[in-house]
Formats: sequence, C-alpha cells, structure tokens
Amino acid sequence: MCGIVGYIGQRDAAKFLVEGLHRLEYRGYDSAGVAVWQEDGIAVRKKAGRVDELAKLVANEPADGSVGIGHTRWATHGETTDINSHPHTGGNGEVVLVHNGVIENYTAIRAQLQSLGYVFRTQTDTEIVAHLIAHHLEEQIRLGSDPSEVQTYVDAVQVSLKKLKGTYGLAIVFRDHDDLMIVARSGSPLVIGVGEGEYFVASDASPLIGYTDEVVYLADHELAVLRKSGLELSHRDTGIHTPDIQTLDQVSSDIDLGSFDHYMLKEIFEQPQSIENALRGRINEDEATAIFGGLNMDPQQLRRIDRIVLTACGTSWHAGLVGEYLLEEFARIPTEVEYASELRYRNPPLGTRTMVFAITQSGETADTLAAMRECQRKGHPTLAICNVVGSTIAREADGGIYLHAGPEIGVASTKAFTSQVTVLTLLSLFLGRMRHMSYPAGQRIIRQLLEIPSQIEKTLQCNDVVKEVAAKYAEANNFLYLGRLYNFPAALEGALKLKEISYIHAEGYPAAEMKHGPIALVDEHTPSVFIVPRCGIYPKVLSNLAEVKARRGPVIAIACEGDEKIAELADDVIYVPDVEECLQPLVTSIPLQLLAYHIAVLRGCDVDKPRNLAKSVTVE
Ligand code: GLU
Repeated sequence: MCGIVGYIGQRDAAKFLVEGLHRLEYRGYDSAGVAVWQEDGIAVRKKAGRVDELAKLVANEPADGSVGIGHTRWATHGETTDINSHPHTGGNGEVVLVHNGVIENYTAIRAQLQSLGYVFRTQTDTEIVAHLIAHHLEEQIRLGSDPSEVQTYVDAVQVSLKKLKGTYGLAIVFRDHDDLMIVARSGSPLVIGVGEGEYFVASDASPLIGYTDEVVYLADHELAVLRKSGLELSHRDTGIHTPDIQTLDQVSSDIDLGSFDHYMLKEIFEQPQSIENALRGRINEDEATAIFGGLNMDPQQLRRIDRIVLTACGTSWHAGLVGEYLLEEFARIPTEVEYASELRYRNPPLGTRTMVFAITQSGETADTLAAMRECQRKGHPTLAICNVVGSTIAREADGGIYLHAGPEIGVASTKAFTSQVTVLTLLSLFLGRMRHMSYPAGQRIIRQLLEIPSQIEKTLQCNDVVKEVAAKYAEANNFLYLGRLYNFPAALEGALKLKEISYIHAEGYPAAEMKHGPIALVDEHTPSVFIVPRCGIYPKVLSNLAEVKARRGPVIAIACEGDEKIAELADDVIYVPDVEECLQPLVTSIPLQLLAYHIAVLRGCDVDKPRNLAKSVTVE
C-alpha cells in the first residue's frame, strides 16, 4: 500500500524518485509527491492523482538536486487533495518528510503542537510528525546542540518517534543539512539500496532494480542515518549495529509489461510458469512426497501437529480455504482458515500442537503480520506462505514456503493465488504422507500436479471465448458465482476479482446455499457463473443450475471439456481441461480471472490500479 522512495548521492534525485514512484504504482495510491534538497530551501512538488501528473509537474517546475524523498499516498486521514499529498513540511521548512502508515495518537499531539504555535496546513495524521521533529530539533539546538552535527537531527527524530503510536515508514530530509537523510520504520516496510557513494530507499525492492543489487532490509524500530559517505543503522532497544547487506536476485525483465496491455493479463498468462516455479525442487517422486527446505521443524515436531490454522486476508484467504479442504482431506488434520483481521483481536483457544500458517503475497499485509505475531507470542510455531523474498512476514516467521511466482504487479492477485494453492497442495501431500496417505495416493497427486502447468497452458486457450462471453454480460450490475466443494473457494475468488477490477457487485456462494437467500437476486439481468466441472456431486450442481434457469437467470458455466450436457442447460459454456477434483481450482480460476479482466476492460476500468485498492495493505 502506498510507497516511499529516497535518494542521496550524486545523481539527479528527482529522476530516480519519479521513476521509483512509477515502479511502486502497483501498490495502489491516490496522490504522489517528491521533495529535493536545494540551497534555498527544500523544493516540494506534489499532486493528487497519478504519478504521470507528478512527472509533468516536475518537468514544468524542475527540482534539481541530489538528495530527495518521494511518496505515493493511499489516504487514511484527510481527503486526497494536493495539499494533503506528501511530502509534508514541519516548522518553517526545517523538516520535510514522507510517511506510510497511520499515527493513531495524532489528535492529541496535534493539539499540543498547536498550543505551542505550530500551524497545520493539512488534515493528515502525518503532518504532526513533521512538526514534532521540527519542534524537537529546535529544542535540541536551543539547549546547545550543534545544528551542523548529524547527531542533533538523529536525537530530534528519536525523541519524536518515542511519542508516536501507530505504524510508520518514514524518510526525512532537513533544510539545514545537505548531506543527510534519516529513515525509520515501525510496521511499514523499507529497504535501503547500497551503492557507491550513494543510497536508495524504497518500500520494496522494485525501484532499486537496475541501480544496485545490494540491499539492507530495515526491521521494525530500526533507524538508518544515510550520508553520501556511509550508512549507520541503529535499533531502538539495542543501539547501533552493523547492517546485514543482502543480495537481490530479482531481474528487471519481471517488471516489464512485454506485449500485454496490462500486468494483470500478463500475470494470468504467466501461471503455467509460476506454478512450475512453485513446484520446482519440491517433489520427491521416489518417496511420493513433497520436500520443503524452510519449515524449520523436524518430522517428529511435524507429526505432533494436531490442528492447523491458516490466517490471511482477501485472495490469500480464499487460497487458505482451498488449503483447509486439502489439508483435511489428505493430511486428516483439522484445519481452519481465519481472517487475519479477526484473529489478531480474537482469542481463540489454540493448543500447544496447533501450527499456524500466515498466507500473504506481499509478506507485508498489516493484519496478517499482526495475527502472526499474536500467535507467535502465544508460542505456536508460525510459518509463512508468501511471495516477496525478504518481506517482513518472511523474515519474522519461524519458517515458511516461498511462492517464487515473481513480482505480481497487478493489484488484483492472480498468479499468487494459484501459486498459494499449489504450495498448499504440496503441504497437504507432505503432511499426509507423514500420516495416513498411502504411497500410491501420494504418487497420484504428484502425477496430476506435474501436469497442471500444461493443463493451465491449455486452459488459457479459452481466452477468446471468455472475451465473447464478457462482451455479452459486461453491462450487468450484479453477478452470482456458485460452486461446490473445491470450487466453492474458486467461486468466492471469481466474485472478488470481478468486484475488484470492474466495480460490479458480485457474490460467491456454495451452489446449494443459494436457495437459502441469494436466489432472491436471480432475474433475467443477473448472470450466475456456475463452476461445474466433473466431480462426485456433479448432478447436484446441475440441479442448482436448473433452479437458476427456472427463474430465468442467465447462466455461464465453467465445465470440463467434452461435457455436452451442460451446453443444453447453460447460456454460455467455457470449457477447461478435466483434472483431479482437488486440483480443479487451479484450472477453474483461470477463466474466472479472464472474465473479470475482459469485463473490466470493456467497462473502461483501470485494471491494474483499481480505485480505492492497494496491492500491499500495510495499514490496519
Ligand atoms: N496516514 C497518512 C495519510 O493519510 C499516510 C498514508 C499512506 O501510508 O500513504 O496521509
């Protein structure tokens, strides 16, 4: 969610900042701005709207200099206006900063600062941080600290941070020091790129690609002092320490759009590859099981587990629901999937043998992180299933499984979902084979799983048909998505995709549950998407479908190749390859992703950056 960039060195800072903000756009935002240090005061350029608008502003009113900060805002406090956009200025321009996160006690601090004469120009929570630091800076100097000494600024920031409640990633520059930037985090991610005589700052590694592959991930309560000549890192509780410099292995081609119109479409088409990556090196055919390098638990500990809690938000929660069905069927371990935003404040009884998995694409989702920490506090082994290497959740978990899906830029998750489901399938196989699952049963799943990338390749050929179906229904205002068993989570996910990017109201339900309420919505204007591949209860789903038809509801069916019968019942059919029931969500999700995509394009929606949404939800 939203993003920060920073630069200190010899280059044209504004150029790096604007380019970096472009690369962070996928995280979701509503305004953008930069500030660049100049002799006669820090130049601030900011604007509500797209980074492109900001780029035009910077082209018309250049901000030359080699030290600067930038921001994309996802408003939490105060409307999305030019004035509320970041950077924000403190005091009389002595301090300029950008902030990601939420300051929860800002009203009290604001009142105190107002009584001291500070004038507030914006409605944001962030502005109090700028004034607070300016205030403490003035205090330090009044008490004799030297304004040319870096320590004076560090002290002012540290005293101020102690007063803040909430979450922050901050990058701060100072009018009276031309070779200094301070960055700090508590809850919102920040990474520092290390160059020669220069440093880069960003919310994730994408702006750094092509500039440096040496990075330092900032941990919570860490503060970094950046000067052209060096970097000093300190932790609130343990003081100064040596930075742990890591090597970044992402390649820049991953973030190129190639020949696709949108990242979402590119990522949908990447799924044969991303699933292959999720499987690579993780299958032991001889023993008919899966291999995981990073669970950090020995077989004895794993066999003791008698309950699993999967916690996640949004699309990851849907993947978790598939995981629940898989783990219960194959490993016979009672499993629940919990919304992280609920789990963090609920206090469900978790036994000593409960294992918790946090599922998140970004590894930064604030609610998932908080839920994970809550479970860790209570002593449960807490592992992560996530995509972004080095993210906060990946680093804080006791162990975990990476998706290796490559950067997912489209705000609506597609390839991360199918990779999460793939990894959860492997996990069920792994835990199942330690318990009741037979060798042939394990082999069967492996055989089917290995075929999934080519089955998805085949499924993607439905794109043209889906496009035609989309054109037929693009004007509808309501959709129902219905499926049973493994295809119930796929229905939920299909409905979510449509809501997210086309702003059409859609609801996902277990198909049979429809008659307990949602059927009241059915009329000739409300299409129902039935996910009805061959399965043990195929005839039951057909009855549900007939119930909708009887009420003149248009039906789009997602069915298995060769299913002639369905064509007589449904208005439109999109065929997918016939795969094992437990693997069906991997293929049935593909036409649902494409349907949402084409409808959104036809309705003129901004597919990759849907309104109000953020990719990496780093606020509560
Ligand atoms: N809470 C701040 C605001 O509303 C920062 C939001 C963000 O993280 O972009 O301006």
